[in-house]
Amino acid sequence: MEEQEKSLNFIEQIVEQDLAEGKNDGRIQTRFPPEPNGYLHIGHVKAICMDFGIAEKYNGVCNLRFDDTNPAKEDTEYVETIERDIAWLGFKWGKIFYASDYFQQLYDLAIRFIKEGKAYVDEQTAEQIAEQKGTPTEPGVASPYRDRPIEENLRLFEAMQRGEIEEGKMVLRAKIDMANPNMHFRDPIMYRIITSHPHHRTGTKWKVYPMYDFAHGQSDYFEGVTHSICTLEFEVHRPLYDYFLDQITGENFAGLSPYGPDYRPKQREFNRLNITYTVMSKRKMLTLVKEGLVAGWDDPRMPTVCGLRRRGYTPQAIRTFMDKIGYTKVEGMIDQGLLEHVIREDLKETAPRVCAIFDPVKLVITNYEGEGETLIAENIDGHEELGTREMKFGKELWIERGDFLEEADNKFYRLSPGGREVRLKASYIIQATGCEKDANGNITTVYATYDPDSKSGTEGGNRKTKATINWVECNSAVDAEVRLYDRLFAVENPSADERDFRELLNPDSLKVVNAKVEASLKDAKMQDHFQLLKQGYFVVDDDSKPDHLVLNRTCSLKDNYLK
Ligand code: ATP
Ligand code: MG
Repeated sequence: MEEQEKSLNFIEQIVEQDLAEGKNDGRIQTRFPPEPNGYLHIGHVKAICMDFGIAEKYNGVCNLRFDDTNPAKEDTEYVETIERDIAWLGFKWGKIFYASDYFQQLYDLAIRFIKEGKAYVDEQTAEQIAEQKGTPTEPGVASPYRDRPIEENLRLFEAMQRGEIEEGKMVLRAKIDMANPNMHFRDPIMYRIITSHPHHRTGTKWKVYPMYDFAHGQSDYFEGVTHSICTLEFEVHRPLYDYFLDQITGENFAGLSPYGPDYRPKQREFNRLNITYTVMSKRKMLTLVKEGLVAGWDDPRMPTVCGLRRRGYTPQAIRTFMDKIGYTKVEGMIDQGLLEHVIREDLKETAPRVCAIFDPVKLVITNYEGEGETLIAENIDGHEELGTREMKFGKELWIERGDFLEEADNKFYRLSPGGREVRLKASYIIQATGCEKDANGNITTVYATYDPDSKSGTEGGNRKTKATINWVECNSAVDAEVRLYDRLFAVENPSADERDFRELLNPDSLKVVNAKVEASLKDAKMQDHFQLLKQGYFVVDDDSKPDHLVLNRTCSLKDNYLK
């Protein structure tokens, strides 16, 4: 069969056009620029697939750059987990850079801007500066410090860096245009003082730190990035990105890039990923973790990469999801059902089917003689090539309490005394004969007889019954803690809700049951995937120990995703 050609997304079209025009001598360089202030979430993966995907497809390179310009929020813990998560997703970066590597160059550039009369030190409070910004239709008001002499600006900025000025007392602003319809041009802040937190890499060497707008484009430029791809909220920053680059490229060439005066990176924007019933913000996720509302960044309900992994998502499924949603210029909301759909489709092909009993009641087969036996069952029905496993069978089995009714009408096809035949999954046909109850009337044991000539895989195995039920042999059964996860939030779009997002959590997002599972799971390893028959897809959790199996529900069997 001929492979269907996938149409290019709009960024790929731009890249192909640039290549056709011979831009950057055919060089393609992207970067993924996380701020190490939290764990990566599935929104970041959309950017990762784009940044790394473009480099892979067009023989370029994608570097990893930590955008570490705010020491108050950043930490090496985050640097390490970001690297680990990207590697787990299956992407390879070229080099690792840190914006903090450029602190000296950026500082020198700021000094140059001051000397050229393009920046000034403002002593107003953040509130005053915000008040003077104006609105998109009304011009802003100039700061009383806007026309400070260059010498004074230099002296004050150097004093800021020496730690002589208190945090919050002064900022360095670009002197651009207080009436520009693009608010980002109204003398944006270039530098602020942070002395309350040491930087995780540069310690206390720096007292002033560059703002995003002054650091990002220059970092791209120092490294030789050709396509600086980001999300749509940065579209309004793009003119400022270009403005700062204009000051150091072309006729203003300052020799800060090896690629010469004509080279400059270009910013391109695509739509963010938003998914229903969750949040896509590191800040909110950090709150959930800090306040103990989830078990950690890798809680299987979290939309983080490590949470998804623990939930049982595979890198392949996550990448398939990104392919399906694609890249556009329009913000939207993706149905969580689509995410579940792709992992379900993935596991459908690979996860062995096994029996697990969530609400067990004992079944005794009164006419079964002997020590028990070992049956062979296919891992996935009808797919012998995908392997088989052994199932212990014997006189005493665990079955689901709900699969037996002492008195049932003729719409109930499972076990009930009165002659109806029911097949035990991959084994024999049985008939219930009665049950035993405790003083409270709860059934403690169900009794049945079996037909020795009805074994699956033999001629008698072809005999049809109206129902098949799951079972696990009592002596060999393994106890498992099964964690039934559901969506983290009770409302479709927590970010658009007026209430505090913490009040919108789904109170039923985790239920734990102690199940009996078949002996073949005894040696299951971390990250092994299974379909527990009639229950859903599950993965072995990191909390599992040799004598304590923990299974997480990845998703249910039922696909509610409407195409
Ligand atoms: P958050 O809002 O969760 O704090 P962020 O944008 O501040 O995320 P960064 O570490 O700055 O996080 O993001 C690194 C890259 O990931 C940026 O290029 C950003 O555009 C991209 N990114 C972040 N969130 C999303 C998202 N929901 N969808 C697509 N890309 C995203
Ligand atoms: Mg950001």
